[in-house]
Amino acid sequence: MNFQAPKGTFDWMPPRSETVLAVRDALAGPARRAGYGYVETPAFEDTGLFSRGVGESTDIVTKEMYTFTSRGGQSLTLRPEGTASVVRAVIEHGLYGGPLPIKLWYSGSFFRYERAQAGRYRHFSQVGAEALGAEDPALDAELIVLAMDGYASLGLRHVRLLLNSLGCRECRPAYRAALQDFLRALDLDEATRQRIEINPLRVLDDKRPEVRAQLAGAPLVTDHLCGACKAYHEEVRGLLAAADVPYEDDPRLVRGLDYYTRTTFEFVHDGLGAQSAVGGGGRYDGLSEMIGGPQLPGVGWALGVDRTVLALEAEGLLAEPAGRVDVFAVPLGEEARRRIFPLVAALRRAGLAVDMAFGGRGVKGAMKAADRSGARYAVILGDRDIEAGAVQVKDLTTADQTAVPLTEVVDVLKGRLS
Ligand code: ATP
Ligand code: MG
Repeated sequence: MNFQAPKGTFDWMPPRSETVLAVRDALAGPARRAGYGYVETPAFEDTGLFSRGVGESTDIVTKEMYTFTSRGGQSLTLRPEGTASVVRAVIEHGLYGGPLPIKLWYSGSFFRYERAQAGRYRHFSQVGAEALGAEDPALDAELIVLAMDGYASLGLRHVRLLLNSLGCRECRPAYRAALQDFLRALDLDEATRQRIEINPLRVLDDKRPEVRAQLAGAPLVTDHLCGACKAYHEEVRGLLAAADVPYEDDPRLVRGLDYYTRTTFEFVHDGLGAQSAVGGGGRYDGLSEMIGGPQLPGVGWALGVDRTVLALEAEGLLAEPAGRVDVFAVPLGEEARRRIFPLVAALRRAGLAVDMAFGGRGVKGAMKAADRSGARYAVILGDRDIEAGAVQVKDLTTADQTAVPLTEVVDVLKGRLS
């Protein structure tokens, strides 16, 4: 029996997997430096958290969740997104009673039963950030700037920011009604017609060309914003401009989750084909109450790690894999292996990246392994060296080789590699 990774999933293997780590670090870095604290929540939650928090009418809840009944009879779901979990944790731990805003970031695996294709997987990885407890346009703008800085720090030059406002509970109902009137007159399938009644904004997010073609004349939310939403949105735009972050107004931008209000944004990359969104987010002022919490406004984003790696690839920025280690130890014989082992440990404790030849290969095989490791130096120990209390230090780029006393080799290598 041969096992394979399940459909829609895959393995990140070395050396490409190094890029995944680098992307996570780069995307989280700006938020960490802006005072966001790390939060880690479980990979599964009570199913109700997502059905209420993400929204009953969303694709995620209607067809993408991995839901199962635990042995204890509880309905649990593998998390399809992070925001509902973070808000749940903030409520559960009563953080809203402390200093506001609460700023948190996370990184991890998410699960959606999607139609698997390039850039769209059933298991994927996101870095996210959320700021709760303040309704301040500077917070919306801060998060957007942090995400753009994260992409930029990876060297990406073709990430575009699409920006919109979805209004609030004051102005959204009138827009919703106008949109429903428009949509009811279109030629749509039954499922979509139902969606018009439950969550008409979601219809604007339909990706099918035959639907998109009919949406050209749809009323725009930006024409229906109340005064407060308009002013708020203007403030966000002004702050982005002041921070030199270019944006494109996209009055048709809606997002797949039900909880968004006001500021809504997406980061897109043009080198990725249909799955162009490398990240997205927005304000979700009603979410806390939807899941039984206090009134707690929030804004946040989630950035796709896998698609960001694809974007790096599309821009030719996938770094050449660096050498895995600095030093590679080659023992010539059993006695040498016993003696080189503690030397390897000492070199590692001194902070050097060190590997050694395993499996009792001959000199030729061991030297080949040393070359393949990418190490700058090989440390070779033979019987004659043991007698002399020394090791051979070979520079693998120049092939220069010198004997160094065993007692000095840690310092010598540290010096040469610093
Ligand atoms: P899309 O419109 O592409 O389905 P989404 O609106 O469902 O995206 P979000 O829930 O906002 O996406 O997630 C934020 C980011 O996570 C996306 O912009 C994308 O980069 C990434 N992402 C979402 N779903 C997947 C997936 N199935 N596979 C890989 N990455 C994903
Ligand atoms: Mg989606």
